[in-house]
Amino acid sequence: MANTSLMGTGSLTIDLAAMADNWRALDNMSACETGAVVKADSYGTGIGRAARRLAQTGARKFFVAVAQEAGDIRQALGPDPEIYILSGHMSGDTDMIADLNLIPLLSSIDQMLRHFEALPGAPFGIQLDTGMNRLGMEAGEWEAVRALVVAQGPRLIMSHLACADEPEHPMNAQQLAAFVQMTDGIDAPRSLAATGGILLGPEYHFDVTRPGIGLYGGLPFVDAKPVVSLALPIIQVRDVLEGESVGYGNTWIAQRDSQIATVSSGYADGILRVMGPKTKLYANARPVPIAGRISMDSIGVDVTGVSELPNALDLLGRYQDVEALAQNAGTIGYEILTSLGARYTRRYTG
Ligand SMILES: *Cc1c(COP(=O)(O)O)cnc(C)c1O
Repeated sequence: MANTSLMGTGSLTIDLAAMADNWRALDNMSACETGAVVKADSYGTGIGRAARRLAQTGARKFFVAVAQEAGDIRQALGPDPEIYILSGHMSGDTDMIADLNLIPLLSSIDQMLRHFEALPGAPFGIQLDTGMNRLGMEAGEWEAVRALVVAQGPRLIMSHLACADEPEHPMNAQQLAAFVQMTDGIDAPRSLAATGGILLGPEYHFDVTRPGIGLYGGLPFVDAKPVVSLALPIIQVRDVLEGESVGYGNTWIAQRDSQIATVSSGYADGILRVMGPKTKLYANARPVPIAGRISMDSIGVDVTGVSELPNALDLLGRYQDVEALAQNAGTIGYEILTSLGARYTRRYTG
């Protein structure tokens, strides 16, 4: 027997006041300038609204992964804030870099030559590799071009820490020493710390910090205020008899006569399939376990015995945070946030 209610998409609520508080809290931990990393649609929170709020709060330097991400922020913020591209100057991006006045963080001699030839005199920054071996010039390359680059007046010289979320890891001090050695005496602003680096202490701060995850409520910033909550509307509630199954593969079998609520949203919306067995939703304050496999667009939830069923069940909110879901899925908060899909209705508060 099925009792049908209204269809709907999951509803993602983004607390912009909490995001602003997180930026201020991170800013207060250093004496230098605090930027804002808004790549991947501001970690799933919506780049236009997030960037505007962070700019109102005081951020002047914004970082995106690729040039394609910069259009929405330039439109939201106008011409003044600096927008840095972490992937540097790729060959197809020249027009966009020029038109939107973006600052590529050049990570190789090839990129450097491309930028200087295509857009002479245009702003740029430099990305150095201090041991992560992901992006950036290595010490030898850098030595060869350092004088030439410095003469062109880079807006920023940066590197990135591989283990900043583990304060005791010896890699942090090694990368710090390498960065100092590669950049000492250079008259240009320097940046080494993302969220984890800010927490490591002042010697990691230099002139500009680049927090991302901490703004959006994730670890390693333990004092971050939660920013994202997610409610999934109940599409249908049905009675399931003892011995009947729920969902693909019949993995869940009712041990007693049960009530199953089917909520809208599934793994296509970033609710990773692997988190199913350990994850509960919340009917107001009451935890209700997922029943069976998470489908692409829907999830069965065992709501047996819940007397007043709300219209929607909470996956992220007061009773369950991003890190809890990350743990259930064997991943990190970054992946939970950036997996949040495009089908949600987004609501901004604060
Ligand atoms: C993603 C990224 C950041 C932000 O890192 P968080 O850990 O989210 O604070 C900073 N710098 C670079 C180079 C990045 O790739």
